Amino acid sequence: MTQKRDYYDVLGVSRNASQEEIKSAYRKLALKFHPDRNPGDKAAEENFKEAAEAYEVLSDPDKRRRYDQFGFNGLGSQDFADFHNIHDIFRHFGDIFGGFGGSIFDEIFGAGRGQARHGSHRATGSDLKVTIDLSLEEIATGVEKTLKIKRWGKCKTCQGTGAASNNGFTACTTCHGTGEVRQVSRSMFGQFVNIAVCPQCQGEGMIINDPCKACSGEGRVREEATVAVQIPAGVSEGNYIPLRGEGNAGRRGAPAGDVLVVIREKEHPVFTRDEDDVYIDLTISYADAVLGTEVEIPTLTGHALLKIEPGTPSNTILRMREKGIPHLNGYGRGDQLVRVHIYVPKKVSSKDKELLKQMAKSSGFKPTELKREHNIFAKVVNVFS
Ligand SMILES: [Zn+2]
Ligand SMILES: [Zn+2]
Repeated sequence: MTQKRDYYDVLGVSRNASQEEIKSAYRKLALKFHPDRNPGDKAAEENFKEAAEAYEVLSDPDKRRRYDQFGFNGLGSQDFADFHNIHDIFRHFGDIFGGFGGSIFDEIFGAGRGQARHGSHRATGSDLKVTIDLSLEEIATGVEKTLKIKRWGKCKTCQGTGAASNNGFTACTTCHGTGEVRQVSRSMFGQFVNIAVCPQCQGEGMIINDPCKACSGEGRVREEATVAVQIPAGVSEGNYIPLRGEGNAGRRGAPAGDVLVVIREKEHPVFTRDEDDVYIDLTISYADAVLGTEVEIPTLTGHALLKIEPGTPSNTILRMREKGIPHLNGYGRGDQLVRVHIYVPKKVSSKDKELLKQMAKSSGFKPTELKREHNIFAKVVNVFS
């Protein structure tokens, strides 16, 4: 892997740049290196991705603070969205370009993501967002889930054309069948002549005279569908997995949008997650703490044996290496951390009370080490012993 460039250098801003400066620097770079402006230019594409990554970190106060403090080591894989392609980047940062899906790039280059992806003038169907709840066990192993979704699906009666018969169309008179019109528009970057989708026929180039009855000429109908999604191990709350083309079908045969499966973490009755580590509380008897023992302890993937060394004090945290959640990047996993507590019974039998009184008499059970190490504390201890 090549050395990553400093994010501030990438965006060309100072380390104390304001959010506005960061946003504006990114916007400039994104426009400069946009693939539609640099077709086939691999270096431009890399620059484009590099800028997106830098912006993702520096635009988020928490990620930026960790980056400032620890550099790249302060960031984990969970800090980066899963960008499969350029369009994911638009989607992710859509707000700074003017909204989800409809980006400023559409305006400037006349290329919506639908067009760039599918080579069509017609509007891609909209995306659907589905949230799924996962247990920590499912996150630890990865899981396949089946989702039921209600969406617009392609009309089977007309195969999505919207026309009742093959000769139910005539060429659009506004665009003369090309599906596009030339427009002059003004944007924050100046004046542009761009090619826009024909408003009369929505880019289809055709007008339907004899609409399909099943879909009223829309080319799509409401349907309920079942889709499967493969969740990799190590995902976190807020991660999402895009299912390409599983969203709403576009009008009249236009490509379908995506389903975005958003991950939500269920609270676990026993484990608490901290990044890829998990914490669990374990209560042992005083005798076990002093003499040491071996206990069977639950992990996210079954039970494991944990050795308690003789003389383990309360609040000790024992680390079970690699028993946590796998890192999303596929290499290695977090640890399981066991917080040890010592059980103090509220009530004891008279027999046990006798035993304890015997113990109390023995100097071996008095906190002598504490007396040596902390003189002030020793006075307090003496009051009670
Ligand atoms: Zn139809
Ligand atoms: Zn037209």
